[in-house]
Amino acid sequence: MIHKPELLTISLLEFISFLKRENIKKFFFVYDDENKLITTSHQQLQPIADYFSNEGRDFNEHEGWFCKISDEYDMLLGAFVHRTNRGQAAGGVRYWDYDNVEDYFRDGLRLGAGMTFKNALAGLWWGGGKGVIAHNLNFDKMNPDIRKKIYCEYGAFISSLNGCYVTAEDVGTSVEDMTNVFSQTRFTTCIPPEFGGSGNPSEPTAKGVISGMEAALEFLGMGTLEGTTIAVQGLGHVGEPLIKFLFEKKVKKIIGTDINPDNINRVTKIFREKDLDCRLVKKDDLSIFKVHCDILSPNATGAILNQETIPLLKAKIICGAANNQLEDMKRDGIAIHDKGIVYVPDFLTNRMGIVTCANEQYGYINNDPEVENHFSRDWKHSIFNRTIQVLKESKETNIPPAEIALKLADRLSREYHPLFGHRGKQIVESLVENNWHFE
Ligand code: NAD
Repeated sequence: MIHKPELLTISLLEFISFLKRENIKKFFFVYDDENKLITTSHQQLQPIADYFSNEGRDFNEHEGWFCKISDEYDMLLGAFVHRTNRGQAAGGVRYWDYDNVEDYFRDGLRLGAGMTFKNALAGLWWGGGKGVIAHNLNFDKMNPDIRKKIYCEYGAFISSLNGCYVTAEDVGTSVEDMTNVFSQTRFTTCIPPEFGGSGNPSEPTAKGVISGMEAALEFLGMGTLEGTTIAVQGLGHVGEPLIKFLFEKKVKKIIGTDINPDNINRVTKIFREKDLDCRLVKKDDLSIFKVHCDILSPNATGAILNQETIPLLKAKIICGAANNQLEDMKRDGIAIHDKGIVYVPDFLTNRMGIVTCANEQYGYINNDPEVENHFSRDWKHSIFNRTIQVLKESKETNIPPAEIALKLADRLSREYHPLFGHRGKQIVESLVENNWHFE
């Protein structure tokens, strides 16, 4: 049993008070891969480093993570760099409320590693990382002046990291916020189109889900989407274009649910001539899981495939954009596999958000091959081909697809960038040598 240091159990505000008492404004944790230990900028934080060095849940040999207390609002700004063999760490910045220090660190570590695997599986020459801003409940989260200051400060913080982490939009962060980040750093993507950004990725994301569905149908020998019945949970930015694409593919019937009446009304109106059964549901409603259908497509929130919902499932395939659909990747992945349902891993099929924004600096071309390749059947990294590969290997080994996809992603994530090698790690090492935390 690993002893949990008290510092991890306290609230973020208590932690920030502690840091201030100790005169710590910026701190970092870096992985010493020779000695298999995490070291830290400040001796006072070593118990946290020791704890994560020894636990096997969310810490996964992350190259480093860097944090700073915001100047005015007692919020913690963080950049979690997981693995940079394929390139600098890329992933969005989340603005979120955390109950305690452990939850904050765990979220950054878990999300950062998740980006490594998503990026590698997508064949992107980017490593993985994530930004996390811990909101302070004493300040209105939606106040535009506060947001502006926080995101400008976050941009400056990212600049101070010399490019080991390149940020982007994520949950809790808007396009306006990205403008403020961009005003202070070149190490960001997902900026608004008027500044050269790639714009809303939801349509390409929906198209990626279609590729995953088509691969799963082909794998099962069920033909194409034509004539199938699909259940869609969540009719938001991804769900709506997904329905459009599904009807273009001549599906027979769609059953859709959402908790927001505006979305139900809008989608019902758009597709009024189609066989679409749109249902307004409560947040904890489970009826969508019981629908007899060919494919269940989760496009709302995470952790919806769990011990309560899996026994209800009547679908042959599960394929959607929602992040982290399996509440517990191992337990729930096995339960779905044992029911004979084909699960297309979310981090394989919902890649288009990061794909469309990660390479913004290379500009845009009509029918851009850098985007279209992901929907093709000729490129080995395409969503279709990777899905077929993962499902075949899952069948041969009797190991659930998410585990197979993760193993493949882990292997790919260790390949080195063809031009820059392991530069992200060298940047991390330079920051440590330059005493980043003293500046
Ligand atoms: P969104 O917020 O626009 O849509 C989600 C919809 O789900 C909303 O309409 C919401 O009312 C509905 N919803 C929430 N709980 C529900 C429930 N219990 N039952 C039914 N409906 C429910 O978000 P989005 O951009 O469409 O993304 C959907 C999912 O896909 C999210 O998990 C997101 O993280 C993930 N994702 C999105 C993108 C993208 O490009 N937008 C990329 C990768 C992953």
